[in-house]
Amino acid sequence: MKFDELGLSPEILRAVHDAGYTEPTPIQQQAIPVVLQGLDLMGGAQTGTGKTAGFVLPMLQRLSRHANASSSPARHPVRALILAPTRELAMQVHESVRTYSKHLPLRSVCVYGGVDIKPQTAELKEGREIVVATPGRLLDHVQQKSVSFNFVEVLVLDEADRMLDMGFIPDIKRILAMLPKERQSLLFSATFSEEIKKLADVMLKSPQLIEVARRNTVSETISHRLHMVAADHKRHLLLHLLRDPSMTQALVFVGTKFGTSRLASWLERQGVNADAIHGDKSQQQRTEALEAFKAGRARVLVATDVAARGLDIDDLPHVINYELPHTAEDYIHRIGRTGRAGKKGDAISLVAPEEKGRLADIERLIKFKIEQVEAEGFDAGAIPADAGERDRGGRGERGGRGHGHPHREREHHGPKVPVRLPETSAHLPTVPTVPTVPSVPRPPKASAKVGFDASQPYEPAPEAVALAAEKAEAPPRRPVRPVAALLGGLGKK
Ligand code: AMP
Repeated sequence: MKFDELGLSPEILRAVHDAGYTEPTPIQQQAIPVVLQGLDLMGGAQTGTGKTAGFVLPMLQRLSRHANASSSPARHPVRALILAPTRELAMQVHESVRTYSKHLPLRSVCVYGGVDIKPQTAELKEGREIVVATPGRLLDHVQQKSVSFNFVEVLVLDEADRMLDMGFIPDIKRILAMLPKERQSLLFSATFSEEIKKLADVMLKSPQLIEVARRNTVSETISHRLHMVAADHKRHLLLHLLRDPSMTQALVFVGTKFGTSRLASWLERQGVNADAIHGDKSQQQRTEALEAFKAGRARVLVATDVAARGLDIDDLPHVINYELPHTAEDYIHRIGRTGRAGKKGDAISLVAPEEKGRLADIERLIKFKIEQVEAEGFDAGAIPADAGERDRGGRGERGGRGHGHPHREREHHGPKVPVRLPETSAHLPTVPTVPTVPSVPRPPKASAKVGFDASQPYEPAPEAVALAAEKAEAPPRRPVRPVAALLGGLGKK
């Protein structure tokens, strides 16, 4: 299917063309006609599927009748409100809005906390048709009376499951109560808990259900591997992996803010160009670190799970779980930073013996066993022979800065860690490490479920097939059905 078959206007098609997109992704193929018709939508889609363009493109088309070049704020009331859980996601969605609306005289603004409120207030007072916001800061603007929702026609709730995790639902409900009743509402979520279904019930009217990435599945374009390693030895193994020239850039996930900063500083001392991003950093620091990473100025970005969602970095080939996440679903979100929009990606996990329980949970969730490998020349229980040299600051990428503690580093030589697969997941199929072991055949599709691969035919989820069949028979506006019934069983998948 081509973009010009979707009924989008020439201005929008031009922006899509400028962005270099040739074909709509599966979520775009399904969502764009629904949103263009003005219907409510419940979208089951992870980031990386192209869902942002799936709602932004048709939304812009619907709003384009209001586009005008007047300088009067009254001619630019808020028409569309897009709520996102994190500042990073809000900024990213706003970037998409700007990209796709560049040939239309529609104005947009992004409002989020952690930065001076005044410039945002000034923009809102000038009049903006599209507001992308995090809920807390938007409510600050409501309190300051710098924004009015009287003319809102479209509401989008992005990553609703994350909103729930972050405790934003009361804020969302306050915002919902201020919006006109007659509006179009779109809700996107990677997972559907009972609470999300309840929220959908109050927010959406006769929604169309679209699901592309099945719950708890990962993109097939990502290869997974793990190294069993003692916790004390992880940083040396990481350094060893980073020395591979094919490891051009990596996003490294650590469990704690403190651990994140400590690891980034240690890598810097070894001469690796690394930066850290976590919740205690100021918004400016976070933005700068992200920009530096996106622009390729930083080779390694060490992050807590705050970065696990919302980051959209083109061509990020490697994600490393320095520590496994406590929640298995976060593994999917973390590795969703790579292999986006059908590109190849590589997810490497460093697993200490005490993390085996978490590994088993992850493998149960993703329904395949992650292949265990040993790094070439690196024994799972030992530090590479030259690690001490590095710690003395001798041969890093930047020539080293000599802040290491060679004696302390050497204390970490320990017993060899047994290299054994967790018994709980021994029955699961293994997904081979695609780039490094090309001769190993990929398992059948049934074992590693399809997320989204632009190069492969789209396999809709059974719910979506059933819905499509229903839609074919039913008139466009079906009688109101409770969302919980519409979604029957989806959450259990
Ligand atoms: P999203 O899931 O909205 O975060 O999008 C993931 C990535 O896919 C972003 O980098 C988009 O720029 C890119 N993208 C969106 N739609 C398309 C498309 N039709 N073709 C190629 N890339 C796309």
